Amino acid sequence: MNERILICGGSIAGLALAHWLTRYGFRTTVVERAPALRTGGNGVDVRAQAVEVAERMGIMSRVRELATDVRGMKFVDSSDRAVARVDTLDPASVEIMRGDLVALLDEVTDTEYLFNDSVRRLEQDDDGVLVTFEQAPARRFHLVVGADGMHSTVRRLAFGPEERFVRFKDHYFAFANADASLGEDRWVTMFNTPGRMTGIYRSGNHAQAKAYFMFRSVPLKYDHRDVAEHKRLIGERFAGDGAWRIRELLDSALADPEFYFDALGQVRMTSWHNGRIALVGDAAWCASPASGAGAELALVGAYRLAGELAAADGDHRTAFRRYHTVHRPLVDRKQQIGPNVRIMIPKTAGGRFVRDAVARLPLMNAIGGLDRRLQARNTASLPDYRHPRP
Ligand SMILES: Cc1cc2nc3c(=O)[nH]c(=O)nc-3n(C[C@H](O)[C@H](O)[C@H](O)COP(=O)(O)OP(=O)(O)OC[C@H]3O[C@@H](n4cnc5c(N)ncnc54)[C@H](O)[C@@H]3O)c2cc1C
Repeated sequence: MNERILICGGSIAGLALAHWLTRYGFRTTVVERAPALRTGGNGVDVRAQAVEVAERMGIMSRVRELATDVRGMKFVDSSDRAVARVDTLDPASVEIMRGDLVALLDEVTDTEYLFNDSVRRLEQDDDGVLVTFEQAPARRFHLVVGADGMHSTVRRLAFGPEERFVRFKDHYFAFANADASLGEDRWVTMFNTPGRMTGIYRSGNHAQAKAYFMFRSVPLKYDHRDVAEHKRLIGERFAGDGAWRIRELLDSALADPEFYFDALGQVRMTSWHNGRIALVGDAAWCASPASGAGAELALVGAYRLAGELAAADGDHRTAFRRYHTVHRPLVDRKQQIGPNVRIMIPKTAGGRFVRDAVARLPLMNAIGGLDRRLQARNTASLPDYRHPRP
């Protein structure tokens, strides 16, 4: 049995995977580059099958207690007048702040952590993988799983350079803390100029607020770990624009040490495993924040990967193959983000006019509601892996 498993990355996918593997009797180690679990980020959605996963983990009642109460998106003009509102409330979905979800996952996960560290080299043979860490002494594991996000190191070491797998989707975005008085409670308020969006996220039952920035661009060259450089990039794009509340939002964002910036990108891979090494979460299939599905895919994917390993009695060849087959259709569906991007950030003034006009139609909210109800109804129950397949 492949008993000892290293998971690289201690976020939603990595912790959920560690939780399930431990429950099935595997021994896990989570190596995380940050000095502690990272608590930043906005609201993320626990929806559809991910609700089932959270229920089976015993955290769903806490997720509901900590849920935000955001109603939808509000588009405003430069004098802060709402020109359209889109209701996004979804009865099949619970939104929770990303940091709260990470903390809940940590509470129910019994794993060894290696913080402030990462993998430097992976050498696999017939019996396992010899892992060279940046800090800790080298160790052997039976299997290694990369849960280290869109810029995954495990993917680079075991599958090849990032450029082969990450598709740039023509935009960059940033999230950061904001002054809560700038937003309306229970709404994500967005202000657009062509190819750019500034916004503020306000849940009515949380003290914090989050600023959003997004801009359309050709690919830029920058270090994806250099926060000062990220702040400079956002500052360059937005500092000259005094419209709406851009200046105040920018001031609080640039002062925030948890400032989070990235390219709007998607990870597209034909396979999520190579021998004894596999990927889960954004490292394998990042659909981008524009999908609103990062947490859902991570929770369901981790559940399926751990479950398939348990069902195959640790045989990674069978388990990794089945994991890919059963999880792929959901990933393919969630990677269709075109309409979401067009709504959030119209390319032209004409596009914004059309978006606002359509968003004002009551029909839009009705269609959105119907679509969410149909999706909820079409969600099949996940297998219960405690009872292995015959
Ligand atoms: C700080 C932060 C804030 C975020 N905010 C939002 C948000 O507001 N909205 C949204 O939709 N999505 C956000 N995301 C992304 C979201 O968490 C993911 O899309 C989704 O939940 C899938 O999670 P994941 O575990 O696959 O990847 P991620 O959440 O990206 O986590 C990857 C983890 O791996 C760690 N890591 C990276 N490289 C290495 C390495 N080489 N060695 C060891 N550890 C490594 C990272 O520190 C991180 O903890 C955020 C991610 C982070 C890390």
